[in-house]
Amino acid sequence: MAGRVYFDNAASTPLDPRVAEAMQPHLAGAFGNPSSLHCEGREARESVAFARRQVAGLLHAEPGEILFTGSGTESDNMALLGVIEALGRERNHVVTSAIEHPAILETCRFLERHRVEVTFLPVDGDGLVDPDDLIKAMRPTTRLVSVMAANNVVGTVQPIQELGTIAREHGVPFHTDAVQAAGKIPLDVRTQPIDLLSLSPHKLHGPKGVGALYLREGIPLAPLVHGGGQERGLRSATENVAGIAGLGRAAEIAAAGMADEAVRLVKLRDHLIESVTALIPNTYLIGHRYRRLPGHVCFGFSGLEGEAIKLLLALDSAGVAVSSGSACSAQHASEPSHVLQAMGYDPLRARGSLRVTLGRFNTEADVDRFLQALPEAIRTLRPVTSYPAMTTKGRI
Ligand code: PLP
Repeated sequence: MAGRVYFDNAASTPLDPRVAEAMQPHLAGAFGNPSSLHCEGREARESVAFARRQVAGLLHAEPGEILFTGSGTESDNMALLGVIEALGRERNHVVTSAIEHPAILETCRFLERHRVEVTFLPVDGDGLVDPDDLIKAMRPTTRLVSVMAANNVVGTVQPIQELGTIAREHGVPFHTDAVQAAGKIPLDVRTQPIDLLSLSPHKLHGPKGVGALYLREGIPLAPLVHGGGQERGLRSATENVAGIAGLGRAAEIAAAGMADEAVRLVKLRDHLIESVTALIPNTYLIGHRYRRLPGHVCFGFSGLEGEAIKLLLALDSAGVAVSSGSACSAQHASEPSHVLQAMGYDPLRARGSLRVTLGRFNTEADVDRFLQALPEAIRTLRPVTSYPAMTTKGRI
C-alpha cells in the first residue's frame, strides 16, 4: 500500500520484483508437471532443479540435500516427526528450547502425546540458550536436538555452533529452525554442525506456501506425506513449481546481498533503538542488544504494557505497520508471549511488547517516519499500569 511504512518483516515480507519475475513463467504459460517425461514436464523439472541449486547455494549445501516443502511449519514438522519416526518413537527423547515457534513447540507436544519425552531448555533474560544446559539435558535416549537459529519475537541469535557441536559429540542430529535467520545471517552447513535446517521464503521477499528443509546426507528421515514419491520419496505431491522458482530466486538474491544488507539494516536498527530509547522515557529493549538479527527490534514501554494493541493500532492508523511481540497471530494477540515469559518477564510485560522488523525495502526515511509517529501514538494512550521505570533488562 502506497505511502505506508511496513515494519513487520518478521511476519512476512513484500515480494521482490525479481522474485515475481522468476515465478511469472510458471504462473502464465509453463504449466508442466515435473514428473512428466515430455518437453513441458522436462522444463518444469529443470526449473525445480535450478531452484534446488539456488537454495543449496545459500546454505553451502549439496543440491541433493534440499527438500522442497509447503512452508516453514511443514519443514519443522518434517524434521522432528520424520527423524523420530525413522528411529522409532518408543523411549525416545528430544531436546528443544522453551522459546521456539509453535511449529516446533506444538510438534513437540504432539510427540509427547505419543510417548516421546521432550526437554524444553530454558533461556536467559536475553533469550539465549546456555550450551551447558544442553549438555545437562542430553540422555542416552536423546534422538534429536532442535534449537532455532534466531527467535521470531525478540530477534536473539542462538549459539548454534556450540549447540550443534554438543549434539554432534553425543552422536545426535541437530536441527535448527532458520525461518527467521536464513538469508539474513551466514549459515554454512559445510562448517556448522547443522544436520537439518528449515527455511521459508516469505520471510525473505519470496512467496508464501512453500518452504525448504536441508537434510544432511545420511540423516535418517521418514516421510510424513506419502504418495507419488517426489522429493526422493520424502515429500510426495506435485511440486509447487512457481513457488519453488520464487524460493530459489529469493535465496539467490539474499545470498548475493547478505553482507551489505546486514550492514545497512544494523545501522537502521541501531539508529531506531537509540532514538526510541532517547525519545520515549522508560523504553526497554527486549532481547540481546547485539546478538540479534540485523533488522529486528523488540521494545517494551514501562507503564504502557497493557496498551500494546492500542499502540499498534494507533501506529497502523498513522500508516506504520508493526506487530505486537506477544504472538505470531492476530487470534492470540492479547495473550502473554511464551517467549517473553521464558525470558523472565511477568505476564503483563510479556503481553505488552512492540516488535519492529525491517526488511530490504525499508529506508532511513521509513525510520524517521516511525520516529515521528511513535511519540504521537503514545500520547493518545492512557497508561493503565503503574510500573516503575525499567532499569537493566526490563524483567521482573
Ligand atoms: N519458524 C519461525 C521461527 C517462524 O518465525 C515462522 C513464521 O513466522 C515459522 C517457523 C513458520 O513458517 P511458515 O509461515 O512458512 O509456516
